[in-house]
Amino acid sequence: MTDYPLICPEEALRIVLEHTPLLGTEWVELMEALGRVLAEEVVAVEDMPPFPASAKDGFAVIAADRSVWRRVIGQQMAGAPASIVVQPGTAMRIMTGAPLPPGGDAVAMVEHTEEAGGSVRLLRPVQPGQDVRPVGQDLGAGEQVLAAGAFLGPRRWGLLATVGRTRVQVYRRPRVAVLTTGDELVEPDQPLGPGAIRNSNRYAIAAAASAVGADVIWTGHARDEEEELRHLMAEALGKADVLLTSGGVSMGDRDLVKPLLEEVGRVHFGWVAQRPGKPLTFATVGEKLAFGLPGFPVSSLVSFELYVRPALRNMQGHTRLHRPRAEVVLQHPIKHLPDRTEFQRVVVTEREGVYWAETTGLQVSGRLRSLVGANGLLVLPAGLGHFDRGDVVTAILLDRPEMEGGSGRMT
Ligand code: AMP
Ligand code: MG
Repeated sequence: MTDYPLICPEEALRIVLEHTPLLGTEWVELMEALGRVLAEEVVAVEDMPPFPASAKDGFAVIAADRSVWRRVIGQQMAGAPASIVVQPGTAMRIMTGAPLPPGGDAVAMVEHTEEAGGSVRLLRPVQPGQDVRPVGQDLGAGEQVLAAGAFLGPRRWGLLATVGRTRVQVYRRPRVAVLTTGDELVEPDQPLGPGAIRNSNRYAIAAAASAVGADVIWTGHARDEEEELRHLMAEALGKADVLLTSGGVSMGDRDLVKPLLEEVGRVHFGWVAQRPGKPLTFATVGEKLAFGLPGFPVSSLVSFELYVRPALRNMQGHTRLHRPRAEVVLQHPIKHLPDRTEFQRVVVTEREGVYWAETTGLQVSGRLRSLVGANGLLVLPAGLGHFDRGDVVTAILLDRPEMEGGSGRMT
């Protein structure tokens, strides 16, 4: 088996992204577009609002009209055509969102009026245009509404509906296969025999991939047996854009994933100078990606967060790939072995504009609970040892999404 050099996390991420293809695009119905990345520019074809619309419930009037009492000549409901003309000495009752009747140029909100005997009196003067939303105030015909690369969260999705786009072009979701390995693993509904543990990675890794917008199209489990693993890897790679394996990448006699990936593709790295997740392996098989995630649950999920998540975002056309980082103040001393970069799991809280970090407890890779409840990963660089209470360290903030939007613009 080839021996792979130990590379630093920054180099590993660079290699992953360099080999990550942008997936193709597809047309989807509006209902399927939520959570996708837009692959086309969207332009408004109509003005919005398409007619001058009342912003309040009240009375449509002529602002310059000096009459004290104005006769109420009718009522203008939302969704109804406006036909009755407002003239000096008259007013038209109007509802929010209703078209301004011809002749009228302002709306007096009902709270600022008094009614008696079929007439209305304004308690405050109104200005021309007051509480009227002019044509095209939201959007003008021909205006760009969304740029290609925009992430379709609820607000942009709403904009697509506003402009009547019922089909849009988006980037395809990556198809992901999850293949766990290990003779010791049993499914969660099975009794634990001697030496057995439950397969949690199958679920945790698949869920992490779904949460990044991937389609998990296949999951499977292989014993530590060469032929079985080779067969299942081929099956998964036949269907998926990205293969995520768990386990079988360290130094044991039954760690078969690296040589089997080497058989079908090209292994770009086999060790990363990080804790957890040193055995992380990355290969390409043609245009497809394969990540050999380490078996320990924390190692696999932290590796997913640091390398797989940005790759899956990159494939879907996101331009913001990484979580935000912040400088955090340690609430207690932290032991750190300086041989590799360490990603310690912490709870980050903000008080008076300062981020404070507190450990989630024992940081061994098999302890999934060190990750559950963590909303930050401290980045403890290689080369530096012990950290004291009050030291300032960089943390990756896991509970904050990338700023929405392909170009980072809030449209
Ligand atoms: P490995 O990298 O295959 O040597 O796995 C290292 C350790 O991670 C194993 O001894 C198990 O304790 C644990 N492990 C491996 N695969 C899984 C899995 N799918 N679910 C939960 N724990 C696992
Ligand atoms: Mg194993």
